Amino acid sequence: MKISKILAFQVDLPLKEGRYSWSNGNFIDVFDSTVVAIETDAGITGYGEICPLGPSYLPAYAAGVRAGLAQIGPHLLGQDPTCLGQLNRHMDSVLRGHPYVKSPIDMACWDILGKSAGMPLQVLLGGGAQEDVALYRAISQQSPTDMAEKVKTYRSEGYTKFQLKVGGDDADEDIARIRSCAAELIAGDILVADANTGWTMHEAARVVIGVADIDVYIEQPCASYEECLSIRRRTPLPFVLDEVIDGIPMLLRGLNDHAMDIINLKISKVGGLTKARQIRDLCVTQGIAMTIEDSWGGDIVTSAIAHLAQSTPKEFLFSATDFNSYVTTDIATGSPRRIDGKMKASDRPGLGIEPIMEALGDPVLVIG
Ligand code: MG
Repeated sequence: MKISKILAFQVDLPLKEGRYSWSNGNFIDVFDSTVVAIETDAGITGYGEICPLGPSYLPAYAAGVRAGLAQIGPHLLGQDPTCLGQLNRHMDSVLRGHPYVKSPIDMACWDILGKSAGMPLQVLLGGGAQEDVALYRAISQQSPTDMAEKVKTYRSEGYTKFQLKVGGDDADEDIARIRSCAAELIAGDILVADANTGWTMHEAARVVIGVADIDVYIEQPCASYEECLSIRRRTPLPFVLDEVIDGIPMLLRGLNDHAMDIINLKISKVGGLTKARQIRDLCVTQGIAMTIEDSWGGDIVTSAIAHLAQSTPKEFLFSATDFNSYVTTDIATGSPRRIDGKMKASDRPGLGIEPIMEALGDPVLVIG
């Protein structure tokens, strides 16, 4: 099988809540997502999606996706989309770095592999280890009382895991945010305080001392790995690394230093499902649980997350994300829909989705 044509579509995904705010004053009102369609000489088309969390979260941005696709696309024509290891090596040889550009291509090629094998991706990624996957809800950074109110609202929708966006410019207010939300929890709920690199070390040190009596996970307190490791060594609270774990070398370093209990594995941060699966399997072998998700996305990203998460052993899947429930626009049918705080991957071949072409509009890029 050979890749014969690559198309890219730009789609706006407005947020149901109107705005999503996280550390250091960052916010997004409308996400800029890119959907990739890969056509083959066998008549099978695969779909992938990449949606950066704006330009200031990870080293990725929406216009960079399209520029990168224009750069790498011509090198992929004639390649076999079902030979995913070889395809990834080829992508890395013709474009160094830029994992977020390669992610939707890799995702679309997995979709092709699944369709050609007649099997859902969850089977090809390791097998249905779970019936469904438990989701967390991100609580956008607001006042402590507003965030506690959101926890209450989203629990009524079935969520039991809540990730607070902290990392504000006032450590005392972040302590208040964690305390007010913790007061809303019931037995069995999970609370994560995700600073998204927003604290300096002294602020992070104050927060972990200030919430030491609370059952809360601390996620990515500071910008660098070394700063996070320093905080990790000062707190007994369970610890999550996210932004700094961008591939196998950083994972190995973290394992060696006992730098975390959990990692946040984002598909596009590491370059696609092929590399995410490799990291997932290494984490399972080494006893590290994971939140499996992406930077953001719509129905196609949510489907990919569901397949990777559902093929992960339950005790290693800390949580996952149903991004399609945060945005107002549907871009595909067949994507998982949350029920009682959980989602279920499709059992149809590949990703199990059909894009809604009217929602995608005309392609912004056609290669081949
Ligand atoms: Mg995070």
